[in-house]
Order: sequence, then C-alpha cells, then structure tokens
Amino acid sequence: MRQSIIEKSKKYLWLPFTQMKDYDENPLIIKSGNGIKLKDINGKEYYDGFSSVWLNVHGHRKKELDEAIKKQLEKIAHSTLLGMTNVPATELAEMLINITPDKLTRVFYSDSGAEAMEIALKMAFQYWKNRGKPEKQKFISMKNGYHGDTIGAVSVGSIELFHHVYGPLMFESFKAPIPYIYRSESGDPEQCRDECLEALEQLLTEHHGEIAALTIESMVQGASGMIVMPDGFLSGVRQLCTKYDVLMIVDEVATGFGRTGKMFACEHENVQPDLMAAGKGITGGYLPIAVTFATEAIYEAFYDDYEKGKTFYHGHSYTGNQLGCAVAIENLRLFEAERIVEQVAEKSKTAELLLHDLKSLPHVGDVRQLGLMAGIELVQTKETKQPYPPEQRVGYQVSLKMRELGMLTRPLGDVVAFLPPLASTTEELKAMVSIMKEAIREVTSREF
Ligand code: PLP
Repeated sequence: MRQSIIEKSKKYLWLPFTQMKDYDENPLIIKSGNGIKLKDINGKEYYDGFSSVWLNVHGHRKKELDEAIKKQLEKIAHSTLLGMTNVPATELAEMLINITPDKLTRVFYSDSGAEAMEIALKMAFQYWKNRGKPEKQKFISMKNGYHGDTIGAVSVGSIELFHHVYGPLMFESFKAPIPYIYRSESGDPEQCRDECLEALEQLLTEHHGEIAALTIESMVQGASGMIVMPDGFLSGVRQLCTKYDVLMIVDEVATGFGRTGKMFACEHENVQPDLMAAGKGITGGYLPIAVTFATEAIYEAFYDDYEKGKTFYHGHSYTGNQLGCAVAIENLRLFEAERIVEQVAEKSKTAELLLHDLKSLPHVGDVRQLGLMAGIELVQTKETKQPYPPEQRVGYQVSLKMRELGMLTRPLGDVVAFLPPLASTTEELKAMVSIMKEAIREVTSREF
C-alpha cells in the first residue's frame, strides 16, 4: 500500500531547527500558497504570519514573479559564476548597487544569509592580510546576535540555546553588550545605549590592534527576540568602528529589502557599512540568492596580479543562479512599481496600533516593532517581568494554537514573532493580530 505523505514525511525527513518528536506529534505539510495564505494537504488555510521565515514580500504566486522565472527558463536555468558571469546576475548587481548605501560598490553572490555572513567574515580577515596587517584577525560580535548556522556565522552569534553545543568548534570572538531596553535595569533607551557604547569602546581601546571587524544585525536583533536598538546605537557603533579602524559588517539578512520601512535598516541611521550581508527578501521569497556587498576599498585590496596571492578563494556551485537573479530583478522592479518600501512605512503604523492592543493582555510583557518586524514577549508575571520557565514552552504552545486558528509563525522562545508578507493589507493585518491575540489569551490563561 502507498504510504501517506504524512507517513513519508515522518519516515524520511529531518527538518531544520526542529525536534522531530514535536513534528511527529504535530505534522504539517504545505501543498500550495496564494497571496499571503498557505494551504496544507487537507485544504486548511493559514495566514503566513512569518513570511515563510521572514522572506516573503508580495505574497505567494505573484504573477509577475512566476512569469519572470518562466521567461528565464526559456533561456537557461544555471551556469557558473566562477571566472565568468551571466546576464541576470550582472543586471541585478547594478540594480542592487543603485539601492544600497553609497559606499557599497561590489556584489558577491551566494545562496543563503549564513553564507553571505561567512563571506563577509572571510573578506574582512583577508582584507587586513592583503593590506599587510595580518595581526588584525579577530572579531567583535554582539551578545544575543544571530547570523546563521554555518560555523563562522555561529562563531559570531550568541544565542545560548542554538550555539552552546558548538562551543569547541567556534573561533573566539569578543562579545559586546547590546541594548535590550525591556530587560535593562534602567529601562531608559538612552542610558542603555550609552552604557553599551561605552562598553564597546572599552573593548576597542584594549583590542583594536587585533580586531579585523565587528558584526552586528541592523537595527533589530531578529532571532534573539526582535530586540529593537535605541536611536543612535547603530550610528554610534559605526563611529567607533571608524575611530578604531575596524571594519563594520552589517547583517541585513532579516531587515533588508523593505522589512523595517526602509530598503535597508541601516538607512534609519544613515550608516555606511564596510561589508553588508543580505538575502531573504531579495527574491521576494522565491529562490535562494544572497549577497555580500563590499566597498571599493575592500575590493581593491584583493585586486592585483595573480602571483601576489590576493585572490578571494570562495564560491559555491549555485552562486549567481540565473533563475534566482531573474526573479530578484523582477522583485526589485515591483518594489519600485508598487512603492513597497513607502507602503511598509505606512502599514507599520497600522500594525503598531493593532499590536498596541495586545499590551492589555495579562501576560504580554513587551511589544517591540520596527516596520513589519515585530516581537511580542510573553512573561509569567508582568509586574516583575518574570519569564516563564523554558520547559513550559509557552511560545511554542501559542504557535500551535495559532496554527489551529489559521495562522503560522515560529516562536523565538517566549517571543511571538510577527513578520507578515510586506504586501499584507490592513484587513489581513487585522485578522492576523486578532488570531495572535486569541491564541495568546487562550494559552496564557491555562494552568501550567
Ligand atoms: N542573519 C540574520 C540576521 C538572520 O535573521 C538569518 C536568518 O534568519 C541569517 C543571517 C541566516 O540566513 P539563512 O537562513 O538564509 O542562512
């Protein structure tokens, strides 16, 4: 007898970031999608409340994006970028450079956000070597940071739950504190910012001679719970990097392509990174393309006669994939035609009003948001900000309840992540927030 697809999924798959025992108890198989909804094999529909892990821009099955892929398929699906290029990868590079911060002039493609970060780290490391300063080998990264799951990206990450197992595999990086206003002693954004900048300056004073680069998520630390940085923090970090001659690697993988109400979140603070990683929304959520952007000064440090040994030896089989680049080009065209970034800035005000309503729930401790990137932190006791014991898995229970009510998202511990597709309408935002409210209310009123 033919196995049902559910049985097959349980028998053959091993899913990312998933305890498979949980999956076996609550399997879910998506069959199709349309607009901002996904449909499972039983025909049940769900709002895609986390944009299929923070990727989706225009909704699923956007006609223009589907067409762009079909059109490209009539020419070619893939050829390599090693030592040569292709038409869409080249056209897309120009389009990207026109929308990124001015100092970024070069595009290096890869397939995922983690790789884009890995590449930035290797470029920063080799940059100093090529420039005759090989002693600058180390990195500063931020506490609670997340940059993906490859070993380099994990080394500059700092999420205890995900990373502690791999401690012995990681290279060392100095960790600088990040302003987490809700959990700071003062609760005052400016004080919190200044204390963190002072601590960073202290680190730089002591170690700048050996530091190649600093890594930081742009404006919002996503995976650690949508922690929004106070005004002046990112630009303060930029100033310190310049003062101490340390490259600044800005991670825009989650925040780039309109998510926060600017094309790139570093624009909120007019920050010009030396290296910048982006991915996720670049193809509208269709295909795996990621990019590491570099300044001309960094590019030039690698440009020389072959014998000088300055070449950047890094690449992946599918780098610059034509189908991915073609859909990214169409995605960027739609960004302009449909004024997506301006729309997000508008919609984020609507989302703010709707999310404000959640604050009245007895176990909602904090609601944080920038653009259409929001986190709702659940706590056992609101007055003392006492978290729930992790083993109660309250965030996970809320996500299961939301699934039952027709919306998907993934919790970040006890922070409910809300990152709807950028094209969501006011009505859709309302419907999603109301599901979240119902799920949070129901689960947090249970006896644990
Ligand atoms: N950097 C940040 C800030 C992210 O949020 C993520 C993924 O969520 C990554 C890097 C890793 O990207 P990918 O999953 O495409 O490897």
